[in-house]
Amino acid sequence: MDKAAQNEVVVKGIAASQGIAYGQIFLYVQKDLDLPQFQIDASRRVEEIARFDRALLETRKEIGRVRAEVARNLGEDEARIFDAHLMVLEDQALIGETIREMETTGLNIEACFHRVSQRYVQAFEAIPDEYLRERVADIRDVSKRLLHALLGQASASLSSVLQNRIVAANDISPSDAASIDRSNVLGIVTEGGSRTSHAVIVARSLKVPAIVGVKGITDVACDGAWAILDGYDGQIILNPTEQTLFRYGKLQEKRRTVESRIMAVNRLPAETQDGVRVQLMANIEKAEEIELVRNYQADGVGLYRTEYLFLNAEHLPDEDQQFEAYSAVAQGLAPLPVVLRTLDLGGDKADQSGVARVDSEANPFLGFRAIRICLENPEFFKKQLRAALRASAAGNVQIMYPMVCSVDEVVLAGHFLEEAKQELRDRGQAFDPKVKVGAMIEIPSAAATVDLLADECDFFSVGTNDLIQYTLAIDRLNVRINHLYQPTHPAMVRILRTIFTEAAKRKRPTGVCGEMAGDPSYAALLLGLGATSLSMAPPLIPTVKYLVRNMKMIDARKLAKEALELRDAKEIQALCEEFYRERTKDLSLG
Ligand code: PEP
Ligand code: MG
Repeated sequence: MDKAAQNEVVVKGIAASQGIAYGQIFLYVQKDLDLPQFQIDASRRVEEIARFDRALLETRKEIGRVRAEVARNLGEDEARIFDAHLMVLEDQALIGETIREMETTGLNIEACFHRVSQRYVQAFEAIPDEYLRERVADIRDVSKRLLHALLGQASASLSSVLQNRIVAANDISPSDAASIDRSNVLGIVTEGGSRTSHAVIVARSLKVPAIVGVKGITDVACDGAWAILDGYDGQIILNPTEQTLFRYGKLQEKRRTVESRIMAVNRLPAETQDGVRVQLMANIEKAEEIELVRNYQADGVGLYRTEYLFLNAEHLPDEDQQFEAYSAVAQGLAPLPVVLRTLDLGGDKADQSGVARVDSEANPFLGFRAIRICLENPEFFKKQLRAALRASAAGNVQIMYPMVCSVDEVVLAGHFLEEAKQELRDRGQAFDPKVKVGAMIEIPSAAATVDLLADECDFFSVGTNDLIQYTLAIDRLNVRINHLYQPTHPAMVRILRTIFTEAAKRKRPTGVCGEMAGDPSYAALLLGLGATSLSMAPPLIPTVKYLVRNMKMIDARKLAKEALELRDAKEIQALCEEFYRERTKDLSLG
């Protein structure tokens, strides 16, 4: 696609976070390392070698720093991996070969180093020995660091966004999203992503309008161009005409009226017309969000995604730093419950700082993620558990494990929790000895064994974002198959019914904390199927509450029963939408 001139251009995508933004575009394009290749004069070779030496030294120092950090926080065993990285940098064969490459080709040193390291990678990849093959990752990692040092390139960052801009990007990582400053970012539009990518989840909490899956937007949009981003209808209008601006102005007025109708229920209880009080909880990523939890009158925090404390960290937060964050939330919201989810790194929440050492993987959502990382690193895990336990003395903390796949994981996590409690007793530090423990149900194997897990858990929370992707085998981030990511697939409705029914038989409260819970068209279905609470980004609570106050639970149960009899996701979707529309006619724009 050519860059748009001054003509109005409408580009469609998927509505991901509601709201309208009008402002100039900030193009945020993460490029692969831009590796220059050019001939250098023979007289400059000594200078090139000196530059190479300096970069080697700098990279060694950087790796040394990371190593020390990991040793301190994760232990010597974990830190040893960096010895392998240092060995690559000290490998005289690699260094010598790079210099020889320069002498024979006459190319600049970074191009030569890249060529030689690529040859190493290919040679190692061909070796049948698994241990040696694994060293390929070390060589790649070190080469990247060294090339960055040689080129003096800092990676682009969202913190450099100019004021009041609409960010247009290929994609936005969760750690990028965590550094978004609401006062700078008016809206987000990405080529990739989905409604459940973590950057979008953060945008929703911040009330930043967002649309995703907008193919070609970084090609068609110019930096600085004016645009309207429509997070309701999932479209962006570049260079809008006066007419379009006027039309949107009118639309905005209507939306504001609807918004004020919704906000009128903010302080009222979430009670159905037949008298059932529904728990509406908040999902948060950071301790600072407790203000939002209060403002939107949540009944507590149903999901505190603690991994955000780790995502942009220069070093791993220690026990005291974690305790401070967790207790600020617990104390600030007491006596309301705060469900603190233990670390869920991995998946799209890759560890970009490198401090927690989650390597890139071919299938990160099926890989070394969440509780799998914690159970293999007990010291690291117990640090978080102790911090959470200590926070339980300050408020109503409940601990929840993510990505649980089988009973033995919860048993092992429970064992570490008991050890953490004993360590606190030994130190004379207070905690709630009856702290409740729960598991996320987001893997089909957990859904199928809720009855067994109930022996080890006090409560459950259904993570529909992952449960949908694992049940339907649809990568939650893959734009190509986004249309197949169907929350109302009959398999989902059946699985949800099983989870809630089995949990209820054993008197285990079971809420939903995936994005489905905050979508008002699904709220009645979830409640009708038996969800005991719904947890969502705080700004979404009033709309769901509006529906709850305008429906009867008995009708929601009927809806669920009907949905269970249908064969097609679209039919179930239509049924849910009709239920919502009929009860919220006041909110229609028409
Ligand atoms: C989920 O999977 O639904 C969930 C709430 O967890 P996350 O989105 O953090 O994976
Ligand atoms: Mg999940």
